[in-house]
This record gives sequence, structure tokens and C-alpha cells, in this order.
Amino acid sequence: MSNKQEFTISEETRRFLDSEHLLFINGDWVKSSSGELIPVIDPATEKKIADVQSGGSDDIDSAVKAARDALSGEWSKIPSHDRAQILHRLSDEIEANFLVLSELEVLDNGMPMELAQYSIASHGVTLLRYYASWAPKIHGKTIPVSPGGAMNGDSLTYTKREPIGVVGAIVPWNSPLIFAILKLAPALAAGCTLVLKPAELTPLTTLFFGHLIEKSGIPKGVVNIVTGLGESAGDALSKHNDVDKITFTGSTEVGKKIVSSSVGNLKKVTLELGGKSPVIVFDDADLEKTIPGVARACFFLQGQNCMAGTRVFVHEDVHDELVNGVKAMAESFQIGHGLIQTNDFGPLISEEQRKRVIKYIKQGISEGATLICGGNEVNEEGFFIEPTIFTDVTAEMTIAREEIFGPVLCIEKFGNESLEEIANRANQTTYGLSGSVWTSDISTGHKMAALIDSGQVSINCHAAVDSAIPFGGNKQSGWGREFGEEGLDSYLKTKATTVMY
Ligand code: NAP
Ligand code: MG
Repeated sequence: MSNKQEFTISEETRRFLDSEHLLFINGDWVKSSSGELIPVIDPATEKKIADVQSGGSDDIDSAVKAARDALSGEWSKIPSHDRAQILHRLSDEIEANFLVLSELEVLDNGMPMELAQYSIASHGVTLLRYYASWAPKIHGKTIPVSPGGAMNGDSLTYTKREPIGVVGAIVPWNSPLIFAILKLAPALAAGCTLVLKPAELTPLTTLFFGHLIEKSGIPKGVVNIVTGLGESAGDALSKHNDVDKITFTGSTEVGKKIVSSSVGNLKKVTLELGGKSPVIVFDDADLEKTIPGVARACFFLQGQNCMAGTRVFVHEDVHDELVNGVKAMAESFQIGHGLIQTNDFGPLISEEQRKRVIKYIKQGISEGATLICGGNEVNEEGFFIEPTIFTDVTAEMTIAREEIFGPVLCIEKFGNESLEEIANRANQTTYGLSGSVWTSDISTGHKMAALIDSGQVSINCHAAVDSAIPFGGNKQSGWGREFGEEGLDSYLKTKATTVMY
């Protein structure tokens, strides 16, 4: 445990932390109408690093009004090639401010520096550039029919793809900047305007990003950022009758609330929710690659990751070797502050989250699973917990059913069951987000992937994420898809026009 080690931050990050953090509405930085503040804590030190505004329904009203006005203003007249250029400029700004953004993401969320840098470079920058390149490619079709055949004369029918309108984007704390960009990039490429509500626990990178948005030439009101609590700012945004679409990433529980909040004006809703993803390891898997793959699948971001592979089903013949290998990896993680480069395992986001995870670990033990390693809090400052592995897990145990959102891996065995029987066990969950299959037999890989009821399945890797690959959940893991062309579609609506002549 090395989180007591000294770390340094750049002058610019220090200046930003010490500045006043305001709401970004209609191109201005303003205080919330209540004047209340939310403290922001570094989860690795438990120390306050900043205060942000606690926006409420009045602030959401102002932000939605700004977004509505901007939708039909200058923004609607900017040619799509120029919209693309603006997104490229925003991406350039991220590259130019890479160090500050990475440091802030580590301080705010607790993730290791290497991961912050990887995610900002390979997802933040790439998402903006990928969707920038879509902007001029958005177009409709001509449809060669003669509607109402009785009507004399020729006709032409064409479709146009229009921005869906004002978007409310509500994001979680586990990868704050990337989730904000994942919503903003396709929304702006489509010509929409936006009100962003970051998670109360991790608002800083999104606020810094607001300053980059200002610099990039995006007209005022196109992007608005309202920090605040879910039950006030988030609720007001999702209920707002002048919002056309909510895009939400977070828990299934809040996702259901968003759906009921949307009924007032039947706004469109995209949901990326929780997961309990299976990892299936066959006896012919290459264990040299599978062992680190399985460890990363679960322990990446300390398990606070919607696509985490938290339920491993392993063939009995390779069970012990896999368990020992993953245990050795879990025990080799350097736990500590993410700004110390050698650390690769950070804290959980909050004390509340740590208590929740400890409760699940105790339940795992009391319900009869075997604790192989971990299970303890790390008793120094910061919300750290050891990477934890259970074997002898069975389907009815709480740890096998509920999303823990922490570093807890549950391992079950299979013998000579058929692929269908293994899939039935893997699919015994209300979730359906991700999953992976590890085997040297390509037919087994494809057959098994087809049987897993998830929006994404990877073979011999876990959770392959890329700007161009659609991602989203089946069952209670969500509605719709983000990333790729489908991610763009959800910010567009089709208008059909027919002319008779
Ligand atoms: P959460 O509690 O659902 O919060 C997500 C966002 O919703 C936050 O901004 C939150 O604000 C806001 N919110 C809370 N209550 C609300 C309400 N009544 N109305 C409107 N907004 C509300 O989730 P979390 O704890 O931050 O994140 C963990 C969950 O997210 C996990 O279940 C995980 O699986 C899921 N997740 C899914 C994906 C995916 O792509 N499928 C990705 C990442 C995370 P506050 O911050 O103020 O609470
Ligand atoms: Mg929450």
C-alpha cells in the first residue's frame, strides 16, 4: 500500500482547482440560483479538493432555454463540414490540455494515471474525431414509390435526417469525461444542443472541458453544463417538457426513474445501465493470455465498470490454474494514489460505495462462497479495498446476482455441460451488457458468443470498446446503443417529404 507517498500536480491543475467553479449556461459562467455548493473529494486521500455549484430546477430551466434558443440560432446554419471542424478543434484542445485533464480525472475519480491518459487519448479524442467525420455524411434517401397510386402524376419522396433537438445528458462518476464526450460528440455532430449534468462526485473534468468548449468556437448555448445532485438537477432535467431526449448512463434503478420522468412529453430516452457480465473459460483456452484478461476484465477501474466481467464460468480441468493465476495478479496490483505512476489500483469512489462492497463480501462469505483473496479495506486514508476473489459461487448467491460495482470476482465451475447449458447459466441474470469467451476453438467461440444474451460479446478479450463499435445493453442493461453509427442515429429524427408534380 503506497497511497501515503507524495505526488505532485501541475501548476495549471492547481490553478484550476483553486478557481471558482460555476455553471456554464448560455456561454456564461454563473452561480447556481440556490447559491449552495457541493464539496468534491479526492477518493484516494478523502480530502476536499474543490467546491462546485449545486444547480437546481431554476438553473436547469435556464440551461434548457439557452439550448432551445441555440438550436434554431447560429448553430443551425453552420454547414456540416464546419460543424466537423469545430469538433476537431475541440479534440485539439483536449490534446493541448491532456495533462490537466488527466490529473483532474485521477484526483476526481481515483483511477490510475495510466488509465486516465489512455481513456482520454484513445476514447475522448477519438470519439470527437470519429463523430466529427460523420457530420457531413448525415443524409436522407430518395424513395422510388408513387404514394396513393390513384393520384395522377409523378412524385418524388425524399427523407431528411434532422437533429432530434435539445438533449439532456446525465452521466455517472466512473469514467466522467469519457461519458460526457460520448454523449456530446454524436449530439453535436447531429446538430443538437445539450444540457450536461455530471455526477455530483466527479464534476471537475467536465467543468474544465466547458472552458475548452468556449475556446473551440461552439456558439453560446449549444453546450450547457449544470453541476448538481441527481435528485434535483438530474430529476428536473429528465422531467423537463422542453427537452427532446435524455441520454443517461448510470444505475438500472435511476434508469427506471428516468423512464417514468420522460412520460410528461414522451421525450426519447437512451439508457446505458448496469451489468453482471459473464466470462466463460474453456479447457482449451490459452491461459497465458486468459489469466491477465480475466483479471483485467473484473479489476479494471477497481471493478467500478459497467462492463466488468464479474462472473467467471471456468471448465473444471483448468479451474485451479486459472484461480491461482488470477489470484497472483490480484495480489500484485500496486494499490494507491493514481497520481503515483507505479500504482495501478485506485480507491473506490466514496465511503458509501466501499461500505456497499464490504457488505457484499460479507454476504458472499455467509452464503457459503470460498474467499480466495482480498476482502479487506486497506486501513489508511482513501476508500481503498483489496481486489477480492470468491470460488464455489452458485447462481442463487447474492454476489452472483447483484451488481457489486467493486473489485469482487465470482468464480463458478462447469464440467461436461453442453454450450446451451453453460449459456443458460451465464444468462441467468437480469442484465445483458457485455461478456467474453476464452477458447482456442474458433467454432466454440462463435457458437458461445451467439448464445450469450448481451449487447457485446468478445472472444479471447473482454469488452472491446471503440468509437466505431456499437455498445449497449440487452434486458435491464439498457435501451439503445451508443458508439458507432447507431450511437449517432439516436440523436437524429427522419422527416419524409413527398412532392407531386
Ligand atoms: P447513478 O446513481 O444512477 O447516477 C448516474 C447519474 O444519474 C448521476 O449523474 C446521478 O447524479 C444522476 N441521478 C441520480 N438520481 C437521479 C434522478 N432521480 N434523476 C435523474 N438523475 C439522477 O449511477 P452511479 O452510481 O453514478 O454509477 C454507477 C452505475 O452506472 C452502475 O450501475 C453502472 O453499471 C452504471 N454504468 C453503466 C454504464 C454503461 O455504459 N452501461 C457505464 C458506466 C456506469 P448524482 O451524481 O448526484 O447521484
Ligand atoms: Mg448516485
